[in-house]
Amino acid sequence: MPHAEMIPHEDALRIVDETLSGALLPAERLPTREAEGRVLRSDHVSQIDQPPFDRSAMDGYAIRDDDDREAYRVLETIAAGTTGTCKLEPGTAIKIMTGAPVPEGAGRVVIIEEAEEKDGLVRFRRKGGSTNIAWKGEDIRSGDVLMKAGTPLGALQIANLISCGVTEVEVSRCPRFAVLSTGDEIVDDPKELRPGRIMNSNGPLMTNLARRHGLQPVLETIVPDNLEATVRTLKEALERADIVAFSGGVSEGDFDYVLGALPQAGLDVKFTRVAVKPGKPTVFATGNDRVVFGLPGNPVSVLLAFHFFVRRAAAHMTGSQDRLRTLRLPLAKYFKRRKGKRKEYLPARLATEGQVEAIVGYNGSGHLSALLQADGVFAVPLDVTEMAAGTPVDFTALRTP
Ligand code: AMP
Ligand code: MG
Repeated sequence: MPHAEMIPHEDALRIVDETLSGALLPAERLPTREAEGRVLRSDHVSQIDQPPFDRSAMDGYAIRDDDDREAYRVLETIAAGTTGTCKLEPGTAIKIMTGAPVPEGAGRVVIIEEAEEKDGLVRFRRKGGSTNIAWKGEDIRSGDVLMKAGTPLGALQIANLISCGVTEVEVSRCPRFAVLSTGDEIVDDPKELRPGRIMNSNGPLMTNLARRHGLQPVLETIVPDNLEATVRTLKEALERADIVAFSGGVSEGDFDYVLGALPQAGLDVKFTRVAVKPGKPTVFATGNDRVVFGLPGNPVSVLLAFHFFVRRAAAHMTGSQDRLRTLRLPLAKYFKRRKGKRKEYLPARLATEGQVEAIVGYNGSGHLSALLQADGVFAVPLDVTEMAAGTPVDFTALRTP
């Protein structure tokens, strides 16, 4: 069988984009606080002004702005959660706590540290430059768009929505995700390790990455290296998941069955080889509103392909506008490689000044532990074999705790 064409990494990403451009999953409504990891399906507007009232930013004394004098008569004290009963007239001050609504007529709050109160009168050492008042609506106004459709929700987004009175959100359904780890050599239990066998790290790797990136793991299983088992398990996964990812078995080796299984499960294969290292045998197939990736078994390939391909497919299904961020940063040291036929991603750390430092002693795509030191990866472009120190490179941040 002739080798399939090897396409550039950018073309592979573009094919994923084109194929999945209309692949949005249905939307649903959820309590905001339960929507961690989901993606907003519509623009969400603030229900209230933020701050909701003119609010003291400090503990201190509210006075009028046009009222400069030696001493002020203290009328009352306003605590957070209450409102005052008096109006500020010239010559008066009202003691006020952080978060409390400032009284009518207030122009500033002088902080308590600058004040001395005695016998119902307060004197200030200095009145300070800042008003120490957060004015109603100065952050956001009721009706303003707070967050746009396509925003992924984390703790910060959820807190913002809730503070603006949005306690329910419209979000996309989570893409359901199945991981099929192929290989007669992989085991889940170290007691089953024999010569030639290895621990199945790709299954847990993908399941946990999936959960962290807003997919819902629904199946994770090991598939032996034979066609019949591969087809059967793939069909079962397609019943349950929107995205199925194989680890291993995707090349043209004697015991690789994924390519043979895809058409038998009714899938249309879009590409099978990508000019990227690691990750040359990367397979993408679709059919029946399902997406299948075949990722080469080496763990670093799986990690990178998950970030580049699986997350991208999931983003099309949820409508997420979140993309991997690539920064142009200078390479710390001279770099050389032997061949330039593929774009290459290498693990790297970011130095404090932003230089990209390749991880020393990285042994290639089987060397998952090297990634423990890395903040992300940098790209060596196609046809480039040497780069001087200081050369700007594309650095993609991948660190996840
Ligand atoms: P393959 O793509 O099936 O040829 O596998 C490539 C390499 O990845 C081999 O060294 C496999 O042993 C290794 N590998 C395959 N599956 C896994 C897995 N689930 N966990 C860890 N390593 C794996
Ligand atoms: Mg294999």
